Amino acid sequence: MSLERIGNWINGRPALPAGDAWLDKFNPHDGALVCQVADSGAVDVDRAVAAAAAAFTAWSEMTPVRRGQILGDLVALMKRHADELAACIALEAGKPPEDARGETGGAILQAEYFAGEGMRLHGRSLTSGTPGKSSHTVRVARGVAGLIVPANTPIANIAWKVFPALVCGNTVVLKAAEDTPRIAQRFAELTREAGLPDGVFNVIQGRGQPAGAALVEDSRVAVISFTGSTGVGRWIAEIAGRRLARVSLELGGKNPFVVCDDADLDRAVHWASLSAFSNAGQRCAAGSRLLVFRKVYDEFVERLVSKANSLRLGVESGCDLGPVINRRQQQGILAAIAAVGAEGGRVLCGGGPGEGALESGCYIRPTLVEGLSADSGIARRELFGPVATLHQIDDMHEALALANGTEYGLTAAIHTRSVDRAMWFAQRVRAGVANVNLGTFGSEPHMPFGGFGASGNGTREPGVEALDVYSELKNISFLTRSELV
Ligand code: NAD
Repeated sequence: MSLERIGNWINGRPALPAGDAWLDKFNPHDGALVCQVADSGAVDVDRAVAAAAAAFTAWSEMTPVRRGQILGDLVALMKRHADELAACIALEAGKPPEDARGETGGAILQAEYFAGEGMRLHGRSLTSGTPGKSSHTVRVARGVAGLIVPANTPIANIAWKVFPALVCGNTVVLKAAEDTPRIAQRFAELTREAGLPDGVFNVIQGRGQPAGAALVEDSRVAVISFTGSTGVGRWIAEIAGRRLARVSLELGGKNPFVVCDDADLDRAVHWASLSAFSNAGQRCAAGSRLLVFRKVYDEFVERLVSKANSLRLGVESGCDLGPVINRRQQQGILAAIAAVGAEGGRVLCGGGPGEGALESGCYIRPTLVEGLSADSGIARRELFGPVATLHQIDDMHEALALANGTEYGLTAAIHTRSVDRAMWFAQRVRAGVANVNLGTFGSEPHMPFGGFGASGNGTREPGVEALDVYSELKNISFLTRSELV
């Protein structure tokens, strides 16, 4: 049987890459070759952007209500195909079925929320200092939106950007993650079934360089929304900034999880484990810096190590975490763990690849490291894997100083029974999301999510705030005569 090849999606149909170049895509669970994906280049991007540009006028002139209805039909299809979409993600991203279904459900909720915006897309009505003058604001589509996503939660990442971009009247070129090509292709097929006009939604498969970069550099792309690493985000901001294209950056995190001496330790261990290890730690919002009051440190660490050792690795039902996305990621994380000894760190659990039947996959056992200074190596650098560092602290001031001690500022969590401590910390921590007695998780579809510092550039997606990324505001004024004619 010949190997399946996943190409691009341009102008409402599949499109082969112009250079006929292909990348191998491996299953992260067992290392098996699963398919090939288009290694697209500038010519493919040019075709996709041309299709999106040609479709823009008709799509942007359609009423938002109608756009919302078409997107609502797409949501219905996602619901109908939810099990199949989840199975696709589970295979190509290496996830237990419960995780893949949860992520698909989250994506559908996100999609539903933004499809509903078609009936809102509110502006404001304003008063005027001029008698007889009335003013109001409307939202206007920006043009072609270039959307670039990573592989960690692929269907959620797609829904998060595509639905607000489309409901605002933009047309889209999605640069899919190279490690999760099939889910992007399935999503594209559903857009056609839902009746999205040709050219409104396009997919480019392939690597960041050259495919993603060509999208960023294309002067016809009016808005770029990027979720990925901070280094790439900085480059995108520079390139797109030169032509003043709108840029929304959702970047990395090194998120603090504080455990106070009055915390409910059962609950703190539960949330610390989920924060650090769920989705194999491949979450921008992963809790990878655990800051624990000295008084409860030993007890908390003992319980958390035992919890980490009890987690089941694999992709079968009931497993707690799967592999990381590819061999390069796995090797990079293992090398970083191997280096902690030289910096005074001690690996308390995990620290190595999967064992036995999991040896051939890209697994990393849940890893906790203590003894590192809070400003050393992996205590500050995002690894994007199931690895967290533990740090002893003496009081709330130290908790806040260490929480704010990285260049990032995405999410933060604190566990305490004291409302005063919780509010003191939540108000001062430099993070776009601050959670009390929860994990370092993001928000819900109707809540803003984004970060301070190197975690982003100040935009917020999703929530209604996403509409500001994907639309321009226009103020329209009328002057009417004061006497009746
Ligand atoms: P990455 O930056 O390597 O890649 C992300 C996407 O960008 C991929 O599609 C890739 O092909 C593309 N890309 C790479 N170089 C590019 C370039 N020069 N021009 C255009 N596109 C390019 O990131 P990754 O390792 O795939 O993902 C992990 C990172 O994403 C982590 O830093 C994580 O914190 C971050 N992330 C952030 C959020 C958030 O909402 N803040 C959510 C998920 C992941």
